[in-house]
Amino acid sequence: MSTLSILPYFPFKRIRITKQDVVSDSGISQLTALPDKRYIPVCYKCGNKSEHIHRHEKRLIRDLNLGSFRVWINCSYRKIACKPCNRIVVEDLDFFETYSRVTRRLALCIHELCKVMTVTDVAKHFEINWKTVKAIDKYFLEKEYGKTDYQNLRILAVDEISIKKGQKYLVVVLDYLSGRVVWVGKERTKETLGSFFAGMTQEQRDSLEAIAMDMWDPYIHATKKHVPHVKIVFDLFHVVSSFGKVIDKVRNAEYKKASKEDKEVIKGSKYLLLKNRRNIRKKKHREHLKRLLSLNEPINILLILKDKLKQIWNYNSRTWARKALEEWCLLARTINHSAVNKFTKTLQRYSYGILNHCDYCIHTSKLEGVNNKIKVIKRKAYGFHDTRYFSLKIIQAFTN
Ligand SMILES: [Zn+2]
Repeated sequence: MSTLSILPYFPFKRIRITKQDVVSDSGISQLTALPDKRYIPVCYKCGNKSEHIHRHEKRLIRDLNLGSFRVWINCSYRKIACKPCNRIVVEDLDFFETYSRVTRRLALCIHELCKVMTVTDVAKHFEINWKTVKAIDKYFLEKEYGKTDYQNLRILAVDEISIKKGQKYLVVVLDYLSGRVVWVGKERTKETLGSFFAGMTQEQRDSLEAIAMDMWDPYIHATKKHVPHVKIVFDLFHVVSSFGKVIDKVRNAEYKKASKEDKEVIKGSKYLLLKNRRNIRKKKHREHLKRLLSLNEPINILLILKDKLKQIWNYNSRTWARKALEEWCLLARTINHSAVNKFTKTLQRYSYGILNHCDYCIHTSKLEGVNNKIKVIKRKAYGFHDTRYFSLKIIQAFTN
């Protein structure tokens, strides 16, 4: 008889493995386990010992694979009367959770693998339903990240990520200094961001200094309502990109007015106008731009405005930044186009958030890296059918 034993592979304290059945063709190994009588049963909820056994039950629990075998433990356990809990409860056998059909160590292993593998791949590896895999991973994530960690926050960046083209958004709040994703919420509304701030203690709110964001009214309102002392800093990239849309509108208007000959020049110029001038290298393109500018003054001014707009974010002095902004608005008005005027008004209305950049040189572009990584998570998290799960995965991936 062999003296080899499989018992060291199952170092579970409160049970005794009494039998092993291996059906070699099926790749399944089934163990039978009984509660170790040397231990008095304890309540899974409060840990209280109780010798009042109510009844015996059995459960098949999946464990880690052993070699190429899938291991199932057919475990007997007891239901006991717990006095402090004042009810019949499942005894705690210390190797599985009462509501679970897998051992604790398998659950942990699944959770770890889900950090680097897709839910489906983990499910395939263990031959477990993907829904079970996801539920296990979500359970641990909820435990670790379910409660927002508001500690040590001074400077934030908020932005949305689109999770379904142009339809569904998640709002992501980033700790600017550490790069940690602090919070993820559904929909880019005032209430959503408001609920983030609402979870903070007064002390935590007081320690906040600045927040980078897009000129998006719901975010602005939520910030002003909950943390009025916090300096809002508008993001350069967002402003420049919305000015790009203005340029487009003017170009279209000029195209309609133009003669047939000039139309040829304006046609196909969108790309040239939106591009950074220094990046236009091809001679053909440079000449196209030159002709365009020589025949159309508003477009010429718009391009100057585009360059000057970015420069406003370069100042460290509020006085100089304000001066540059005023000059910008003056020049913009000379075009006298409704879209440009509207944009100018917006800039003036939100000038405080542009000037604040002099004190806090922060941008939401820090979230771009987050966005790229999120695309990877999206695949791992099996699409985005479960927004909560997806949000927790994002927070997990950006915890330092
Ligand atoms: Zn109890």
